[in-house]
Amino acid sequence: MDVDRRLRENRALRARLDALLTDGRRNEQIFDRHRKIEVGLMEGSTFPELFDMLFNEFRRINDYDAVTLALCDPDHDLRRLFKSIEIEVDDHPDLILLDGFSELFRALAWAGSPSLGAFVKPIHNVLFPFETTRPQSVAIVPLKRRGILIGSVNLGSRDLARFASGMATDFVERLAGIIAICFENVANHERLKHVSLTDPLTGVHNRRYFDQRLREEADRARRSRRPISCLFVDIDRFKSINDRYGHPVGDEVLRGVAARIKGELRLSDTLGRYGGEEFAAVLADTDASTAMTIAERVRAGIEGAPFDDTKGADIPVTVSVGTATALPEHFDNAAALATQLVGRADHALYRAKQEGRNCVRAAE
Ligand code: GH3
Ligand code: MG
Ligand code: MG
Repeated sequence: MDVDRRLRENRALRARLDALLTDGRRNEQIFDRHRKIEVGLMEGSTFPELFDMLFNEFRRINDYDAVTLALCDPDHDLRRLFKSIEIEVDDHPDLILLDGFSELFRALAWAGSPSLGAFVKPIHNVLFPFETTRPQSVAIVPLKRRGILIGSVNLGSRDLARFASGMATDFVERLAGIIAICFENVANHERLKHVSLTDPLTGVHNRRYFDQRLREEADRARRSRRPISCLFVDIDRFKSINDRYGHPVGDEVLRGVAARIKGELRLSDTLGRYGGEEFAAVLADTDASTAMTIAERVRAGIEGAPFDDTKGADIPVTVSVGTATALPEHFDNAAALATQLVGRADHALYRAKQEGRNCVRAAE
């Protein structure tokens, strides 16, 4: 009798121990997977890297059906940052920018802690906006920085039982803390980088960035054996515009000229403010006659529409342009190619000035 009881107790104990061990192993696996994600997040220094970690790796490793990131952006600071560093928000449907906080507070049931349970369309639709991967159960995990709500990480599963209230959320909460810090780091890094490579007056790149891109493009041209062209654009008699209308109007003309040049270029071209009233563009994969056509379009576009002196009078502005094209097979060194291209375009610009201004000249 006694032996029987002890055997039963033993068996029960063993079963409990097995269950605990299984639990322990599972937790260890979860911990391991999350650690990998944490390291990946912390190593990312750009938004695309961060997005890839979150929307692809994190989702895949945990076998979620949807992962989205919602960020409150009431002043459109993030939208401006993304625009300035050429990240198309529309290319990332898993990234949701909210104009306010109310939708998020509602999804979090007005509490600062994760909210788990069944997908409720009127509440969760905004956080899972795609029809095809509509989840059955969701976990809305708040993202906070210094105690303030900044957004949420949203997990979705087609399994109704995957997320239910009362489940442990320590792992995702910890991860949300790391995501919030990483996001802020990347945002600060990108902001600084953008400022250090941009001309504050015109918003186009500065000379430092232009020189860097020119070398990269020259290297690419050399390797791909494609032609590369360079334009130098200088405003004619700009000093007299300043003298006549004042420096602030001169600044406006500079902004306008930069915008018009940019308007004639492709997204893949790089425009920089090279000096005071001189702009330079590098046109990848562009031969001499195409470079001439683009340069002529820039020149004609600026001559064709006068600028406004803010008092209703027109300011006629013209530019001179020098172009140069290099056939990369003639160079074995990208730095030499870049230097030569700039030198020849600058010389062609000098000739355009000599030969009467408001014209385009190509380097021989
Ligand atoms: P050219 O046709 O030979 O190019 O004559 P230019 O008067 O344009 O050339 P110059 O190099 O003699 O004068 C350039 C002027 O550009 C002088 C400088 O005061 C002005 N400038 C340079 N940077 C700025 C700026 O940021 N804002 C304004 N308003 N003027 C600037
Ligand atoms: Mg000038
Ligand atoms: Mg000049």
